[in-house]
Parts: sequence; structure tokens; C-alpha cells
Amino acid sequence: MTRNDIDFGTMAIHQEHTDGHHAHLAPIYASSTFTFDSVEQGMRRFSGEDAGYIYSRFGNPTTDATAQAIADLETWHILNPDGSPLRARALLTSSGQSAMSTLFISCLNAGDGILATPSLYGGTHEFITKMLPKFGIKAFFSDMTDADELEKILKDKPEIKLIHFESPANPTMQCIDIKLVVELGKKYNKLISVDNTFSTPYLQQPFKYGVDYVFHSTTKFLNGHGNAIGGVLVGRDLTAMETYVHQTHKLLGVNSNPFDAFLVLQGIKTLPLRMEQHCRNAMDVAMFLDQHPQIAQVHYNGLPTHPDYEISKKQMRHAGSVMSIELKDGYDKAIDFVNKLQICTRAVSIGTVDTLVSHPASMSHAGIPREIRLKTGITDGLIRISVGLESIDDLISDLEQALG
Ligand SMILES: *Cc1c(COP(=O)(O)O)cnc(C)c1O
Repeated sequence: MTRNDIDFGTMAIHQEHTDGHHAHLAPIYASSTFTFDSVEQGMRRFSGEDAGYIYSRFGNPTTDATAQAIADLETWHILNPDGSPLRARALLTSSGQSAMSTLFISCLNAGDGILATPSLYGGTHEFITKMLPKFGIKAFFSDMTDADELEKILKDKPEIKLIHFESPANPTMQCIDIKLVVELGKKYNKLISVDNTFSTPYLQQPFKYGVDYVFHSTTKFLNGHGNAIGGVLVGRDLTAMETYVHQTHKLLGVNSNPFDAFLVLQGIKTLPLRMEQHCRNAMDVAMFLDQHPQIAQVHYNGLPTHPDYEISKKQMRHAGSVMSIELKDGYDKAIDFVNKLQICTRAVSIGTVDTLVSHPASMSHAGIPREIRLKTGITDGLIRISVGLESIDDLISDLEQALG
């Protein structure tokens, strides 16, 4: 059996790593530097003639094992046009934020433009609008739902080099038709990147549609247990990944570390199991909340009433475990509801084994003026839920008593 015959769950468990002592699991290589037997060997490592490690900011066996495990899952069962298995390379980063910034800084030069959807992770949106202009890189936005409008921007703005989006995206779980964006983007020779954090490769593989780069905040579902901040940048252009993307990663100094890499590697083994249960619970929670008299709206792409239900169904295995809900009575009622929760955890972030609930208007987005906040869909009564793996009966009882 080749690696392309095995199931996703098998691949998630049987991770490859190099270790001379036959360790069962990838060891934590807590070593900042690696020794040379001779000056000549050092020379060969620096020239690339000898593949050995040099210094952990440039590469480390534990971080590389984790990066490659994610690259393998992102390319699982995807074939090149010639029938050979698609390969990708990955770099583990200190955070999801640095996976994103490494990608953008690697691919974009002064004078270039980036086209993105407006509903992005807050840190990505700020990086595009506040940091990239400092380097002469212009930001353009399109919701990418209208093919004609998207094509017009691509035609009118030849400086756009990279198209970037998330699907599903906060706060309304808007989904982008990946196939459509890739078809148009490639017609105009654009690079395309997807932040696949909400989906993970288990639910959605953007490489299947021909995107160039995928990145994640591994802090979320890939780790799954909420014990490490991290990110990963995966690219299908192996030459780019091994040259200028790796160089940017080294020069920005955004490497992860062996301990966090080890934690993510353990988390990945249960990714398929966890995602199945996350999604099953999320569907039950969404259906319960959708019929509750206190709830004005449930934004969950797994509900047939969601505007992107069909797109989501087409490109995702299940709809994911993140949703937002809007309480009828707004700000005060939302705060009261979140305070009354007994099982769900009051915290920002997503993708942990326990259910996380946050109220953006009073927490993560409290610093944003109300009119601007409302424009991005963050209403006073909006609550974000990342549904965990608890018993569904306990979860529903908790939500019910908090709403009552
Ligand atoms: C959390 C998150 C990020 C940023 O990741 P960090 O690990 O916090 O740096 C980026 N994109 C999405 C969709 C996220 O949820």
C-alpha cells in the first residue's frame, strides 16, 4: 500500500518521522543547534549537499515532522493532472498570524496588490490594511460571491498578485466557492491562498481545486486541546517553499518550537474522530437554537436555511463546529446568557475539546466603534460558539437553562 491508498484517519495516525533510535513517536528535539563532524560537513550542510540540520530556526526534526504531517493531510488523495500524487511542503510557524504574514511577505512586493474577502480573521484584516501598505502593497476587497464583479476587479487591477479568503468565515459562516475563485483567479494568473483554520484538511482540502497556498492557525482544531499557539503554511510550489518562502520564514524568525510541534502532532492523530464529533454536536446545537424562541438567528452553514448551505455541502465533508447566534434582546440579554453558562467555557478562540462561548460586542470587538462593528455583522446580541466534544445532552441542557 502506498501513502495514497490509505484512509485519511490512518494517515493522521501513522505519521512519518526520522529518528535514529527507533522512537515510536517523533521525539521532542529540544536542541537549538546541531553539530558538524568536520568543517567540511558543515560546509556541505550549508550548501544543501548534505541534508542534515544546522540550527533550529532554520529547521528542526520535530517541527518538520509536524509540518509534513499537515502537508500530507492537506494533499491526501489529490492527484496532479498526470496522475501522480500531489506533494506539498509545509513550514510550522509560531502562530497562525505568522503563517499568514510569512506567506504575504514571501509572495508580495512593493507595487503589488492583494485581493481579499472583507470577512477575514481580525488579525489578517489588520495586517492587510495596516502593515502591508507600509511596504507599498495595496489592499482590495471583494466578497467573491459575484463572478462578474470578481472578474471585473481582476481585469481592472493587474497589480493584484494574490487572492486570499477564508471559508467558512466569521461571524456569519459565509462560504466562498473555492472552485469558482480558482477558475477566475487562474485565468488571470493570480496566486490563491486559503486560511483553512475553521475546516481543517479533514473537512475541506483547498488544494483539490488548485489553490497555491493553505495556512492554518494550528492553535485551533489541529492541536485541538488548546495547549499551544501555532501555525502552519503549506504550499504546492515546492521550489518556492524551499527557497524564498523558507528564506522569509528564517529571516522573520517565525519558527515554532519542538514542544509545541509535539503537542500539535499528538492532536492531529485524533483529528478525524474529533471533527466527526465536533460537527455532529454542532448540528444538534444549531437545530436546538434555531427553534428556540429567544434566538433571532443562527448562522451555521450546516442549516439548509443558511445562504451558503449548498456551497458548504459541495466542498466540505461536514459543516464544521463554529457558529454564531443572535439573541433577540441584544446586548444585555447576551451578557446575561453567557454569564449563566455552567458547562460551556467563557473564552475566545475555537477548536478545543470543550465548548467555547464568547460575546464579541463586549469582548474581542469592544474597542471597535459600534457603527463599524455592526457593519461587519457583529451585532449587540451576537454570540460565537465553538461547539466541543461534551455529551450533547449536557450541552443542550446548559444552553437551555442559560436562555431560560
Ligand atoms: C485564530 C485564527 C487565526 C490566527 O491564529 P493565531 O494562532 O491566533 O495567531 C487566523 N485565522 C483564523 C481563521 C483563526 O481562527
